[in-house]
Amino acid sequence: MNHFQYRNRALCAESVAIADIAAAVGTPFYVYSNATIERHYRVLAEGLAAAGLDATICFACKANPNLAVIRTLARLGAGADVVSEGELRRALAAGVPPERIVFSGVGKSADELRFAIETGIHQINVESEPELRELSALAEAAGRTVEVAIRVNPDVDANTHAKITTGKKENKFGIEWDRVPEIYRLAQSLPGIAPVAVACHIGSQLTELGPFRAAFQRLRDLVGRLRADGIDIRRLDLGGGLGVPYDDEVPPSPAEYARVAGEILGDLGCRFLVEPGRLLVGNAGLLVSKVVRVKPGSTRTFVVVDAAMNDLMRPALYDAFHAILPVVEPPPGTPRAPADVVGPVCETGDTFARQRDLPPLAAGDLVAFATAGAYGAAMASTYNSRPLVPEVMVKEDRFAVIRPRPSHEEMIRQDRLPDWM
Ligand SMILES: *Cc1c(COP(=O)(O)O)cnc(C)c1O
Repeated sequence: MNHFQYRNRALCAESVAIADIAAAVGTPFYVYSNATIERHYRVLAEGLAAAGLDATICFACKANPNLAVIRTLARLGAGADVVSEGELRRALAAGVPPERIVFSGVGKSADELRFAIETGIHQINVESEPELRELSALAEAAGRTVEVAIRVNPDVDANTHAKITTGKKENKFGIEWDRVPEIYRLAQSLPGIAPVAVACHIGSQLTELGPFRAAFQRLRDLVGRLRADGIDIRRLDLGGGLGVPYDDEVPPSPAEYARVAGEILGDLGCRFLVEPGRLLVGNAGLLVSKVVRVKPGSTRTFVVVDAAMNDLMRPALYDAFHAILPVVEPPPGTPRAPADVVGPVCETGDTFARQRDLPPLAAGDLVAFATAGAYGAAMASTYNSRPLVPEVMVKEDRFAVIRPRPSHEEMIRQDRLPDWM
């Protein structure tokens, strides 16, 4: 469910016409619907509550780290899952209290760990024995005890794109299953560390419950085993990963996901953390772009738009599908014809869609790439010296630029010529 709809043939975000934003901001730009973000949070929170789980939803900020997005969720009670000092600082700046922040990631530096310890965040998810030892030394030096989850790798196939599967033993993430009890015993013995939680995140854009079920079952067995070893596991961090519909996939609902978690893990007496990213913001964003020109070819038609792979990397990176919506709805019965939709960047990978059936498009027409709220702006770059794509948030009949487009002068000013040149 999202709040992007046609009204009188004009595509709108809530009550604002996309064309009006384009006129004010220029293209390309991202637009987010505040009501959609809030709705996704509530549906998940209600599902977790209905399943009897005492859970905190920690938004995986990497999916969309804009302060206005994080604050929208923080005001509803969300915490944050962060993977860098930059994200931790953003979460704090957006108003997430430290006691609702979890720090994940396979390569946290000593400086990042030190900053997290000083900030007094809720939990640090440790992914290796060397990290555990380093964290212990840093916490001890700071005179603190940090609550830690060991991120375990359950060796479960998430059945998703290879580049976003994280819970197989050949992936870089988490502690290998067979070593987990030993690492908890070590954690128990180290100063500055309180191993109170288990964390698990098996991948992203999961569209079936089976892999979650398998991982939760393994977690359940593990909690029993660790408790028998005298380790007081009080919290389970279930990670993120629930998918959203991009094309015709039908992922499980948040309520179904929560029910499975409740069935398998609900009687362990644990508190829960979940770390959804895509689920909360994926469907809450569009990337709006203008057709630069239509280039006819002998075998296919190319629709060249002013957005490119640097603005939305997912098609180039994961062969991802994004629905393409004309901003002016064509009259019923308008014939569609296949076209390739491409950006201006000098890479063949800069292709948003191949042989997609589209209504007739001409230079100047606006199109919107759907389901672009997660891992869209977050991954944008300035490749080809293209200014970072701006972001806009809509709430009812208002919109605000939540990150402006930098000027070319600002971009060039970032470079420095050495004084010997
Ligand atoms: C990326 C990530 C998430 C969020 O994944 P989504 O698929 O966007 O829900 C959660 N936890 C960790 C550790 C991650 O790396």
